[in-house]
Parts: sequence; structure tokens; C-alpha cells
Amino acid sequence: MTPIVSLVGRPNVGKSTLFNRMTRSRDAIVADMPGLTRDRHYGMLRMADRPVIVVDTGGFEPVVDTGIVHQMARQTRQAIAESDLVVFLVDLRTGLSPQDLHIAAELRKTGKPILLAVNKAEGRHGHPALAEFHELGLGEPFSISAAHGDSVPDLLDRILQALPSEPSEGIPETEAASEVAAETAPDPGAETTKPREHSLRLAIAGRPNVGKSTLVNALVGEERVIAFDMPGTTRDAIEVPFERDGRKFILIDTAGLRRKGKVFEAVEKFSVIKTLQAIEQANVVVLLLDATEGVSDQDAHIASFAVEAGRALVLAANKWDAVDTYGRERLMVAIRQRLPFVSFAKFHSISARTGSGLNGLMKSVVAAHAAAYRKLPTPKLTRAIIEAVAQQQPPRSGPVRPKLRYAHQGGTNPPIIIIHGSALDRVPATYTRYLEGQLREKFDLTGTPLRVEYRSST
Ligand code: GDP
Ligand code: GDP
Repeated sequence: MTPIVSLVGRPNVGKSTLFNRMTRSRDAIVADMPGLTRDRHYGMLRMADRPVIVVDTGGFEPVVDTGIVHQMARQTRQAIAESDLVVFLVDLRTGLSPQDLHIAAELRKTGKPILLAVNKAEGRHGHPALAEFHELGLGEPFSISAAHGDSVPDLLDRILQALPSEPSEGIPETEAASEVAAETAPDPGAETTKPREHSLRLAIAGRPNVGKSTLVNALVGEERVIAFDMPGTTRDAIEVPFERDGRKFILIDTAGLRRKGKVFEAVEKFSVIKTLQAIEQANVVVLLLDATEGVSDQDAHIASFAVEAGRALVLAANKWDAVDTYGRERLMVAIRQRLPFVSFAKFHSISARTGSGLNGLMKSVVAAHAAAYRKLPTPKLTRAIIEAVAQQQPPRSGPVRPKLRYAHQGGTNPPIIIIHGSALDRVPATYTRYLEGQLREKFDLTGTPLRVEYRSST
């Protein structure tokens, strides 16, 4: 599972500042999920090539009426419980506060690994005031400045070292090995081939009550389940391999689905972290909408996170059996209006309860996966680019016109197309979208996001 690091501390110690510093420079995906979590931010970033989810916890509720206890927000507790590591931030300028002591006591009880970082230490490293933080009983305080960046790289190193080592999870060795052999044999030079990328790892994401458990049971229940129980990790990662129409899938646990007897149940309340983790672990995401409810902010946030993570995506409106023609039309309008950025994804109307539409849905899942991993040979890509330019040139920028010479594929899931030429920094976004459209059509890339990057030689 993708490890989770939460930033914890009382208000104003600098959690958001540290969060921003960690995510800004690192090509991170940041998800704000208003409506769900008013004041929490989630970032997915790569640290030494390892995906890590960082949670900026809202922190603590303001002093409650009793005036004695500073209550930790329930959501913060949930985030801590789901974390592999807690970075506990305190403030050197204000010094140790009673609230810090309360938080430390609560953190110690969780048994989670904790890194104590003393923020706002610019110009004050080794300052005598640091010593008082020993009282927290959390080991050597480590001074940083989130605002100025001092020692933040060292903190990141420490975080990496403190994370659990990467498990060799997922696909059984033999399957992965044979699949890779088959995939790579004709093209041993393909730089992006990684074993686990080629199994179809499916996450079914959506708000509570959209019908995720019902859908999972409909898909998995009636089919042959290859191996139900995966060895439990601390957070009970659930991966369920199943077969459908002769094709193998691995279902990734999303929001707290748990097997009870032979069926799945949503036993936990919705967890943003679990949803993000599942999206990160999957290569295809089905975003389940509730046709009786329309499109919500949460739906849009989950969709945008999947897109930014580069995952292939299929939209499914569930409970189609329960809406009339008017409701159906209204939903289609809402999807166009609120989810325009996923127009590349196929849409299906389904009923998890009756099973209608599931075959079509799974066909699109398979097609989206194939598109995400499609091999795009350099000559064909280059020809497609040249044809697109012949049809419509990139606009002049002052005296220069960008020149697109050739293209090659830089990655899969999502496909990355790297275009070489000159003055390419002047290609406007609208033209890039035009190229994306052309490439989608030529290479049948329905269902997957696409990244176009430019490399100028002059
Ligand atoms: P949060 O409530 O814990 O998320 O704290 P914020 O990140 O919003 O920071 C609270 C205040 O502390 C802001 O005014 C920041 O500019 C300031 N701050 C954050 N980090 C530093 C730092 O390293 N040095 C100094 N001097 N101020 C900082
Ligand atoms: P989850 O919280 O996303 O796992 O949602 P559930 O699978 O528990 O479903 C929530 C409710 O929606 C349950 O009462 C289901 O019976 C109902 N439901 C699920 N799928 C359908 C469907 O296709 N049609 C109708 N009418 N109800 C459904």
C-alpha cells in the first residue's frame, strides 16, 4: 500500500507551510476535498521514486467549552490511525505549550512512529530553547524552517528512512513474470515496462451509498474468485483477484469494503485516504455515480484526482433502474457540465442491483486498460504529428513558429507523448489539446488520460 504520512500539530505551527513545501517542488498531486474535509489537504508525491501520501491534518478543534481539554478533531484521529508515520510539528518561537504535551501523550498512545520537528527555527538551529522539547518524550527534536526550507530535505530523508519497507505485494510472481515475458519479448528496449503495471488493477471509487459494495459483489460474487484472502498487512489491504469472461482482474479495496462471509460490505465510513490509496494502486478506476442523486463535489474531486494520477477511467451511473427519463436526462447534463475534464472516459448506465449494464462496463474497463498501455511506435507517432501539423499548423508566436519534428512515447498509464522540435515552449495550450484530440483518434486512446510533453532542441 502507498505509505501515508500525516502532519500533526496545534494550529499555526506551520503544517500547511510544510505541506506546501513538500508538495510544491515534487510534481505532487494535491487534492482538496471540500464538503468532505473542510480543512484537510492530501498530497500524493514521489519521494526517492516512492509514492507517498501526505496529509495535512486540520489539526485540533479549538479549545472546547470545558476549557481543559483540547480535543483532537475526529478526522485528525482517523488520519493518524491510517498513517504509517506521524510528523509532529511544534513551534520554536512560541515554545513548548500545554497543548503540545496533550498531543504528544495522545500520539504516544497510538504506537505509531513519530518524528518530532521543531518549526520556525530559521537562524536558530542549535538554539537553547530547543532543549525544552525533550520533555515531550519523543526523542531528539529536529529543527526546521518550513517557510525558508532549512533542513526540510533532511526531514524528508528521515521520513523515508522511517517508513516501512516496501512490501512485495500484489501479483503472484509467476503471473507477473509470464506476463512481462509476453509483453516485452518483441520489444526488450521498452523502458517503461514494469511487471505490476500490466495486470488489470481495478478500483471502484465513489461516495458512500452509491452502490460500491453491491457492484463489487455483483462482479466478484458470481464469478470464480481465484484467491480470496491476501496476507493481511497492518491496514488490511484487500486485493481480490477475480476472473470474468476469461479475463483476470485484481480488485483494489476502496473505501473500507470488507468481506463478511462471502459478500462485501462497506463497514467503514468513507475514507478519503483509502480512496486515494486505491486510485494510486489501481491502473483503471471506475467512478461510480448515483443516478438518483446527480453529480456532487465529491464525485468531481475523486474524478480529478484520478485524472491527475494518470489513471484510466470509466464513469458508471448506478441505480439507473430507479430513475425516470427526466432524471436520466438531467444526469447526462450534469455530467457534461460538472465533469468536462473526463470527456475522454466512457460512460455507462448500470444497475448493480439487477446486473444490467455490467458487461458493457467491464468491456470499457478492459478497453481503457489496453489504451493506457498501448505501445505507440515512434514512426507512427511521428507520422501522426506530421499529419496533424499539415492539417493545422501551430500558431506563430511573434516572429517564430514552433516546429514539431518527431515524437516518441515516454511512458504508459498514462501514455506520455514526447514531441521534439524547436521553439516548443511557445506552443499554446489550445494547440496541445488539438494534438491530444488527434492522437486519441488515431491511436484509439479512449478511456485514458494522455500527457503531451515538449522537448526543444534549440
Ligand atoms: P498550520 O495552522 O499549522 O497549518 O500553520 P501555517 O502553515 O498556516 O503557518 C502558520 C503561520 O506560521 C503562518 O503565518 C506561516 O507563515 C508561519 N510559518 C510557517 N512556517 C514558518 C517558519 O518556518 N518560520 C516562520 N518564522 N514562520 C513560519
Ligand atoms: P456503498 O456504500 O457505495 O458500498 O453502497 P451499497 O452497495 O451499500 O449500496 C447502497 C444502497 O444502494 C443499498 O441500499 C443498495 O441496495 C442500493 N443500491 C445499490 N445498487 C443499486 C441499484 O443498482 N439500484 C438501486 N435501486 N439501488 C441500488
